[in-house]
Amino acid sequence: MPTINENFLKLEKNYLFINIAKKVNAFLKENPDAKLIRMGIGDVTLPIAPICVEAMKKGAEEMGIKETFKGYEDSGTGYDFLKQAIADYYQQYGVTLSLDEIRVNDGAKSDCGNIVDIFGNDKIVIVTDPANPFYVDSNKMNGRTIIYANSNEENGFAAMPDFSVHADLIYLCSPNNPTGSVYTKEQLKVWINYAKQNQAIIIYDAAYEAFITQPDIPHSIFEIEGAKTCAIEMCSLSKTAGFTGMRCGYTVIPNELTVTASDGTTVSISQLWGRRQGSKFNGVSYPVQCAAAAVFTKEGRKQIQKNIAYYQENAAIISRTMDELGIKYTGGINSPYIWFQCPNQMSSWEFFDEMLHKIAVVGTPGEGFGKNGDGWFRLTAFGDRDLTIEAMERFKNMLKK
Ligand code: PLP
Repeated sequence: MPTINENFLKLEKNYLFINIAKKVNAFLKENPDAKLIRMGIGDVTLPIAPICVEAMKKGAEEMGIKETFKGYEDSGTGYDFLKQAIADYYQQYGVTLSLDEIRVNDGAKSDCGNIVDIFGNDKIVIVTDPANPFYVDSNKMNGRTIIYANSNEENGFAAMPDFSVHADLIYLCSPNNPTGSVYTKEQLKVWINYAKQNQAIIIYDAAYEAFITQPDIPHSIFEIEGAKTCAIEMCSLSKTAGFTGMRCGYTVIPNELTVTASDGTTVSISQLWGRRQGSKFNGVSYPVQCAAAAVFTKEGRKQIQKNIAYYQENAAIISRTMDELGIKYTGGINSPYIWFQCPNQMSSWEFFDEMLHKIAVVGTPGEGFGKNGDGWFRLTAFGDRDLTIEAMERFKNMLKK
């Protein structure tokens, strides 16, 4: 009988969204006529841009012609035409990348979770609290020790390092899911200093960078001096271009990023990750990469911006509601998430039940993202415009009573 990795038994049994789904299903069973509005799961609702559809069709057609058919991709790290488009995109933020520093993948979640394969299980990991649950889960699966950096009202939900505590890996996410907060260049500089002092590596999740509207907020950690020797960046087209069902993202590992092995030799993180991926990943489908490259064209940027602007207006509608009701919140400006304080000092699950039962609106209880999320609540701006307006009307009526 094979033994199992018993670390899996220590994971939370019920994933946040499964708990939510259970409660919602029970509610709908009791109230089959309820007009439910879902503002919980952070999934996009608008279709992918026409230019991406065309590019994907063209890519699919090429696959059906002997001369242009493509089998396994040589490197499995993405076609050069896509990597070049990504490198050009970074250039506008003053970040120069060579193509071998970019690795195309099937979304940020895979790499954020899988990257831990190349680090020792005895290493200490910093995760901000609250945070997306998969940073914690993928490290707990290997039995790693996790320490939490507190994001809270006092620091605007942008956790900063405690220099008296050592860690080896650090997960940062900006713009943040769930809190919608962002790190400034100065704050990232502090994290970079911390990483250098501890010879740690920052895993920087920039999945929501396309939602940044304030000009001085960095889109990439590599905009900050010194990051190339201590950071890996994960990005995704899921929210940028509605690719949640297409599956395409990219990871940037600078060639300068190295660690020292126990025998004193210098090891390139890029090479180590390449070795891991070479054994466990065979790349992203060609038609999807064609669609992804279309995102970075001038027309592609224009088309995806239209969808992003739609979500940003939804975010503004939610933010205005919070302003009107005098509710404290973060996010909305550089992020599709609004993270607000539950009224009347309710716990986040109490408020979840209240919203579900009184106004049939589903959100995400902050507690699902960590203990600092208790008393806070996340709404997403990825929904339909009319439903967002309707939900906010119901929300106002509920709280004015
Ligand atoms: N990173 C963050 C912060 C996210 O919120 C999500 C998805 O919601 C992901 C990564 C996963 O993105 P992908 O669809 O590229 O796997």
